[in-house]
Amino acid sequence: MTAMFRTSETFPGRARRRVLPRPLRATVRATVLATVLATLLAGPLRAPAHAQDATVEPLRVVATVGMVGDLAARIAGPCGEVTTLMGPGVDPHLYQATSGDVRALGRADLILYAGLSLEGQLGAVLDRFGARVPTVAVAETAVGEANRIEAGEGYAYDPHVWMDVGLWTDAVPVLRDAMADLRPACADALARRAEVLTADMEAMDAWIASAVATVPEPQRVLVTAHDAFAYYGRAYDLALQGVQGISTESEASIADIRTTARSIADRGVPAVFIESTINPRTVQAVLDAARDLGAEVTIGGTLYGDALGEAGTLEGSYLGMMYVTTRRIVEGLGGDPPPLPAALDDWRDRRGLRDGAALDAAYEAAS
Ligand SMILES: [Zn+2]
Repeated sequence: MTAMFRTSETFPGRARRRVLPRPLRATVRATVLATVLATLLAGPLRAPAHAQDATVEPLRVVATVGMVGDLAARIAGPCGEVTTLMGPGVDPHLYQATSGDVRALGRADLILYAGLSLEGQLGAVLDRFGARVPTVAVAETAVGEANRIEAGEGYAYDPHVWMDVGLWTDAVPVLRDAMADLRPACADALARRAEVLTADMEAMDAWIASAVATVPEPQRVLVTAHDAFAYYGRAYDLALQGVQGISTESEASIADIRTTARSIADRGVPAVFIESTINPRTVQAVLDAARDLGAEVTIGGTLYGDALGEAGTLEGSYLGMMYVTTRRIVEGLGGDPPPLPAALDDWRDRRGLRDGAALDAAYEAAS
């Protein structure tokens, strides 16, 4: 504990100062001082659109994974600045804190993580910061034991609860309340945005169910590298076959690969899927083995199970990640996903996609 605090106190968020040459540093400091003074002397300069939001200093929120951070950012709006530690393609099961993460955590007003052992390697760091910064295990708090899926191999419960969008709406009030406790002046604005987000999530949840239902029954089997999709399968009625288990720490065995290939061949599964955070080698081996058994099977594209895609893309938001993942699954398995409901028009518009054709284009462009 002390070692970690000493690290963050030695470099208390001043990386920039250490890289600037001395004279430039002085200039920067003088400029900042002048700006601050000018602002103070001039008094309030702008009439904010959302007076309630703008009069409060934004909460510095640090989230571990995008599935938490993106929701937090939507609820926070101008009330918070959300930093997410793990970017696209990053595997949360294996992720270890960098010195930059430690600095970000050291500056945070609020720390949000999933919990349920998802961030296995961050446990000690989160414990240390949790002793002095409000810290919330969002999945663990939002999803009670009755709704969790049990798991073996070092995990009491399967941590991938966000893959059931309906279940993950329970994270919204947890995030809203965590931020409202620290910024009571923002409570109304947070509640308003939380309501809109919940409605979007409910509409996406219903769309996913209707999309998966278009897959012909015998083909409704999802083969992926690891078991990130148990909640998805339970919510949307899809049988699952992960080659590798919940965690990604161990490699799939030859026996795992053979068993999966046999089941693909027997059921006539048309596609298997790779994941953005997992080396595709295992799925390729399954594909090859299934083809050796005579199966006609292809790779159905990349799914987003454990991380969002690139910021600014469709798959770079939580709902976009679920949309892209669902279309890949449904189209790969021979279904025909319906258009998004009108209830999600605003959500789509806010992403700069003005109609269904623009959404299709963003889907096609997804990596
Ligand atoms: Zn996972």
